[in-house]
Amino acid sequence: MSYDYDLLVIGAGSGGVRAARMAATYGAKVAIIEEFRVGGTCVIRGCVPKKLYVYAARFQDQFDIASSFGWQVDARFDWATLVANKEKEITRLEAAYTANLEKPGVEVIKDRAVVTGPNSVKLVGEGRGLTARYLLVATGARPFIPDVPGAEFGITSNEAFDLPELPHSILIEGGGYVAVEFATIFAGLGVHTTLVYRGDCLLRGFDEDMRRGLEAGLTDRGIRIIYQTTIASMAKPDEDVLVTFSDGVTAPYGAVMFATGRVPNTDGLGLETAGLATDEKGTIAVDAYSQSKVPSIYAVGDVTGRAQLTPVAIREGWYFAETVFNNNPLSVDHGLIPTAVFAEPEIGTVGLTEAEAATHGDIDVYVARFRPMQNTLSTRTERMVLKLITEKDGGRVLGVHILGPSAAEMIQLVAVPMGMGANKADFDRAIALHPSAAEELVTFKGPSYIYRNGTKV
Ligand code: FAD
Repeated sequence: MSYDYDLLVIGAGSGGVRAARMAATYGAKVAIIEEFRVGGTCVIRGCVPKKLYVYAARFQDQFDIASSFGWQVDARFDWATLVANKEKEITRLEAAYTANLEKPGVEVIKDRAVVTGPNSVKLVGEGRGLTARYLLVATGARPFIPDVPGAEFGITSNEAFDLPELPHSILIEGGGYVAVEFATIFAGLGVHTTLVYRGDCLLRGFDEDMRRGLEAGLTDRGIRIIYQTTIASMAKPDEDVLVTFSDGVTAPYGAVMFATGRVPNTDGLGLETAGLATDEKGTIAVDAYSQSKVPSIYAVGDVTGRAQLTPVAIREGWYFAETVFNNNPLSVDHGLIPTAVFAEPEIGTVGLTEAEAATHGDIDVYVARFRPMQNTLSTRTERMVLKLITEKDGGRVLGVHILGPSAAEMIQLVAVPMGMGANKADFDRAIALHPSAAEELVTFKGPSYIYRNGTKV
């Protein structure tokens, strides 16, 4: 049977772009279909604009300590300038992504695609049908919006980057990394910021010291945190959004943002026409090679619900192309993924948390807490935290968790020796770089405390 293409990719985000480029490099005839903007969530309304806005917000902290170094700063902030400059940068990146696709010969089609069979899709705008030997679903995820009365008065991360003006106050619902990063952004830019979360501590799944340190850092920066509460309903009697919480309390906010998780983009995608069922969340189940139950359909990235991170989607897209178009079957190891939370304070983490590690046998825990040097001339008392968790026998490093300036940059490099199976002695062999915060990781003497048979001693 002959097809129009060897590969049709649905979604030009992190995973789809990498897969399409690599497959074309290996000689496949490839088209990629994108309904919004090339680059996907990460480039257009995720990692990239988020980090740019975090940079903007962090000037606040710098201004706060500037006088301790002798600087007098008279600072004013202009939201419109930030939005316009962000737009310029993501437009540049979008063009670069398109060029990188076209260079090896990928055809870029701007339309919405729906699947019409195991080897076919339809372009919704053009109405044209296309066939391919393989389909790759890389449609990503979208913000989940709770089903509460008045939810239409809220925004999500999709809209937050392009608000016409900064609100005087904002309520952010959620306790994950998107919620705390946006709280950092809005508070840093001078907006009265409140976080409301149904749990009793932010960042579920992260190491406890990171969670408590972050909570203290956000509170220090004037962010109000309300726990064990949700938004019950919203109304818009005037310029503000009037929120009624689950405990019956009401309060007005200039804006309300939902950061309550993300759901796979499979609604209305037509997967059932190819005999491919999703789970109740809409996730596509795939094997280690990203192949679905339908042999001609693969899926990578957020839509597969494995780890919702750009480098993971990219790796899955690349390995898909290796497997299918380069006769080189490769499966992604999802076991050791470094991650960061670009809040203030920042978190970088790789490997097991203390609570997880303690269930895996006897462990030693090394913790350093200190004021970052850049704060020592000021009255800021915030502590940086570096934690190293090792096996008792042999000292293999199981987890590293850092809270404070440049945590993300440090953790990326720590992920290298950890991937090689490094132990405490390998860290100790490195000569410290002084003065730095990272030197604490290679100068720990005895453990701060230990766990034996699952109990802290
Ligand atoms: P996406 O990048 O979402 O791409 C999917 C594409 O498919 C989209 O462009 C969409 O328009 C298109 N599409 C969907 N359906 C169709 C259809 N039927 N037809 C045609 N096109 C379609 N990750 C990190 O690693 N670090 C971070 O700091 C980070 N920060 C983030 C901050 C925010 C606010 C958000 C929301 C996400 C962040 N992420 C971060 C997550 C990261 O953006 C995603 O994990 C990544 O983009 C997933 O890539 P993907 O290829 O699976 O999907």
